[in-house]
Amino acid sequence: MAELPRHSLYIGGKWVEPAGGEHTQVLDPATNRPIAEVASGSKEDIRAAVEAARQAFENPEWRGMDPSKRGRLLYALGQAIRDSFEDVARIESQNVGKPLREAKGDVAYVYKLFEYYAGLADKIQGDTIPVPGNRLDYTVREPVGVTGHIAPWNYPLTLACRGIAPALAAGNTVVLKPASLTPLSALRLAELTAKVGFPPGVVNVVTGPGSTAGQALADHPDVDSMTFTGSTETGKQIMTLAARHVTPVALELGGKNPQIVFPDAKLDRALKGVLFGAFQNAGQMCWAGSRVYVHESIREDFLRKLADAAGKMKLGPGLKEETQMGPVVSRSQEETVLGYIEAGTKEGATILAGGKRADAADLKDGNFVQPTIFGDVDAGMRIAREEIFGPVLCAFDFTDVDEAVAAANATPYGLMAGVWTQSLQTAHRVAARLEAGMVNINEYPITFPQTPFSGFKESALGHEQGIDAVLHYTRVKNVTVNLD
Ligand code: NDP
Repeated sequence: MAELPRHSLYIGGKWVEPAGGEHTQVLDPATNRPIAEVASGSKEDIRAAVEAARQAFENPEWRGMDPSKRGRLLYALGQAIRDSFEDVARIESQNVGKPLREAKGDVAYVYKLFEYYAGLADKIQGDTIPVPGNRLDYTVREPVGVTGHIAPWNYPLTLACRGIAPALAAGNTVVLKPASLTPLSALRLAELTAKVGFPPGVVNVVTGPGSTAGQALADHPDVDSMTFTGSTETGKQIMTLAARHVTPVALELGGKNPQIVFPDAKLDRALKGVLFGAFQNAGQMCWAGSRVYVHESIREDFLRKLADAAGKMKLGPGLKEETQMGPVVSRSQEETVLGYIEAGTKEGATILAGGKRADAADLKDGNFVQPTIFGDVDAGMRIAREEIFGPVLCAFDFTDVDEAVAAANATPYGLMAGVWTQSLQTAHRVAARLEAGMVNINEYPITFPQTPFSGFKESALGHEQGIDAVLHYTRVKNVTVNLD
């Protein structure tokens, strides 16, 4: 058997062995066979990475860098990702299990993030403030310092870079801990930062378990800002750890996102949007449109077509050309998803499509779950309330707008919502009433580097993307000068 690629930690511009000397295997979720070995970083390695990031932050090579040059470095990183596009997309596709087409979309998003934030690096500015007397008062926006980033496994590179790009644009340094299941694209990113000339220590990548390395990062007194994307439970733990050092946090957590389909919608488009919103990335998305509310007058026909389309989706390894939906990321995630399907059935919901593990001969070694749609779902059922993070869609019907909006909002989450209608009045009125940080009208799901990725209630704290994300990675200093 060919030897597996073996990766070290990237700290202070060097590839170093983990303090504990241990490595763990990374698996291909389509086969559960190992594809690489990565270093199992510990608290000690996090300490070394934070120290390297601090030194790099204090070093005039980075601290004193002309912001336009910093912008050019970010742009060069975006360009390097463009140049390695196919390669990075293949890494991401195989490691997460997502279809290559989707992985390419993710990687394209990553270079657009760097290009967008490259342009902002020299536009971070303060104010002059009118004050009484013969005084000059102004504010300066400084970088906060060392920023910690903990990324999840569903969009490993995109969600890591969503925090890293604005943090770097504002002049900070970075310690990234990727998810243990999907660390490979972050390691490639580290290589590219070195290639394009980021000074040593500006970007550090420490692979390792969340319970040790991740926790050590969130609990480190010399980390000036923590950015986390993942489960709401872990997000709360990160917040508690960061609170011990009064470290600001940005959290992007779970979702149980509603899509509302009105009878005047372009139904073919709605059908595709609902399908894609539920089963893209095998449903493993914080923004999965995992609850669909269909007007009773079109319910039967719409759900029949939806179930047909779901039943025809081609499952397979991400790297296979014809694959429309890949495996879920791990055996344990597969068990969680199947557990929810069982719970839904026991609680009385009806399976309209899927409902099982996919057990075709070429899929049986991987973690394949059929795209599943439940009808007859009661709002109190677990499948209706909890984030499943797999290819499971719950379908409901409604008779009037008030009922749809109330049902859509009846969740502790508030990340994204979809509205399908051709009526401008309905679209905007419903958007205004939805308790969601993002509302997509007549397509789903969509976001851009320049628009806020925002969540209400338990879905997020703060928001990422857009200009505000750069400001999040700055601190405001006020200077008052007495001119007498
Ligand atoms: P987690 O939230 O536990 O993991 C996300 C990241 O946090 C990973 O890098 C993980 O490391 C790290 N981490 C885990 N525990 C800690 C800790 N105590 N301190 C610091 N960092 C930590 O998600 P899971 O991977 O366990 O997935 C569980 C569920 O979370 C999913 O089923 C899904 O419902 C939800 N989820 C939501 C996401 C979203 O985008 N909203 C993304 C991913 C998951 P490691 O990988 O080593 O455990």
